[in-house]
Amino acid sequence: MSKAISQVPLAVNEPVNSYVPGSPEVKSLIDTYKKMWAEKVEIPMIINGKEVKTDKKVQLQSPQDHAHDFGFYYQGGMQHVDDAINAALAAKEAWNALGWEQRAAIFLKAADLLAGPYRDVINAATMIGQSKNVHQAEIDSACEFIDFLRFNVEFMTEMYSEQPVSDNGIWNRVEYRPLEGFCFAVTPFNFTAISGNLPTCMAMLGNVVVWKPSDKQVYSAKVIMDVLTEAGLPAGVINMIFTDGKETAEKVLAHKDFAGLHFTGSTKVFQGMWKMIGDNIHNYRTYPRIVGETGGKDFVIAHPSANVEAVATALVRGAFEYQGQKCSAASRAYIPKSLWADVKKVMEAQMATIKIGSPEDPSNFVNAVIDKNSFEKCKGYITRANESSEATVVIGGTCDDSKGWFVHPTVIETTNPQYESMVEEIFGPILSVFVYEDAEWKETLKLVDSSSPYSLTGSVFSQDRYAIAEAYKALENASGNFYINDKPTGAVVGQQPFGGGRASGTNDKAGSKMNLLRWTSVRSVKETFVSPKDYKYPYLG
Ligand code: NAD
Repeated sequence: MSKAISQVPLAVNEPVNSYVPGSPEVKSLIDTYKKMWAEKVEIPMIINGKEVKTDKKVQLQSPQDHAHDFGFYYQGGMQHVDDAINAALAAKEAWNALGWEQRAAIFLKAADLLAGPYRDVINAATMIGQSKNVHQAEIDSACEFIDFLRFNVEFMTEMYSEQPVSDNGIWNRVEYRPLEGFCFAVTPFNFTAISGNLPTCMAMLGNVVVWKPSDKQVYSAKVIMDVLTEAGLPAGVINMIFTDGKETAEKVLAHKDFAGLHFTGSTKVFQGMWKMIGDNIHNYRTYPRIVGETGGKDFVIAHPSANVEAVATALVRGAFEYQGQKCSAASRAYIPKSLWADVKKVMEAQMATIKIGSPEDPSNFVNAVIDKNSFEKCKGYITRANESSEATVVIGGTCDDSKGWFVHPTVIETTNPQYESMVEEIFGPILSVFVYEDAEWKETLKLVDSSSPYSLTGSVFSQDRYAIAEAYKALENASGNFYINDKPTGAVVGQQPFGGGRASGTNDKAGSKMNLLRWTSVRSVKETFVSPKDYKYPYLG
């Protein structure tokens, strides 16, 4: 055990490589991409620190070239879920007994491995498996994941330092115990950083974890486990399984030692899991913690005083970066009539220069959507908009699946603020715009607040401070992350704690102390130095 009150290195955000054409960084990354693209990767599950292979191999296809398989992973069954739970529970005692500095060192080392020797590898795996361009891969799988690891270590020590006051003759302290039992992390396809953060932030606090990544993210998930193993994470602390989501949830959530769910993904899946937890509530040894960050229908509202270029740029970046597959992507915009023609003109000009294709060519701003289902879903919204009397496809609208799942950035203008694409999460490069009468600013704020069940991110654009203040108040509960004169995407760990309410989640703010607290169960300790020897208080005379 430690004989010092150590200070951890001060966390600073990992600098983002710019990958300008001709730079050594871009050459190194693209060379790594080409090498990994040509290889066939084999991805086992990792249970109790061991590679687990089965007789069921699932081929991995790249979204940008569905004919190209870049390897396979081994699909597990319910026996592997049991094995992962048992491995986690067996690892618990030793991991819990390890001093916090030892745990912190593992995750700080993982951050340095990602910043150095694994940077190209995790970025390239994300580019190949999830179709992110160099910039999107860099800000996610390298920088954000590194930030999560370093900032969480710092937040953990801040949390541990928060102690109650003591009175004369007594010493009060609190201890931040890990949860009793094991935790379950279920992660989405769209952010490698989230996938890494959900299991690691729980493990950092002494918890043991069963982690089920999305089957669309297994390549970068493998790299995460490689990094954690090299950083010295002991066997059994995080167990990565590739199993059916629903069946796995049914098994895990019925286990008496299940202690916490850390989920990011769609609203429907999270609600299903919450219900399962409710159904099992009498089985558990302890009330489980439930943290979920889910869907979004993120808005941009421009006031008539807004700057046209700033609005158009925020919409182009906010709606189409990573093909609109960010939970925070701008997907509904409310633009005043007086500005719309100009905003549209600037967007048209910008979008005419957007290149679409494989991330192997860094000049492609837009790459492929994740899979056939997503492609067909996007195509459906575009087809129906073309047929609707309430909607017009004003920019883009073409889809091409001949090689990869490519959907061109598309803008739908609608006269109905409740039109399907204004209120439903699409998760693709489709932005819907409702043009409002300038005089109806106040009514439009109400529309923004009430049109969607979600409350994740949103932006207001205005040069008028009174209008900004009005939107700030009217939209108080319309988003968990609110932006003023900026796009609604791109939250940075340590700077804008991220998460939303309503149907968007439990708003426990990933990458913050608020989130870490959820994975601890606090024990209060009161020590009296000289104990009373008589029951009588002075008032008894
Ligand atoms: P998804 O809900 O399809 O899958 C998420 C995870 O749940 C995957 O691991 C999947 O295998 C698993 N899963 C699927 N069905 C399941 C079931 N019935 N029971 C248990 N687990 C099941 O989500 P996705 O397509 O991977 O990710 C996109 C979604 O995630 C979007 O809705 C997006 O808004 C949301 N998201 C939210 C945030 C946020 O911070 N709010 C961040 C990223 C993504």
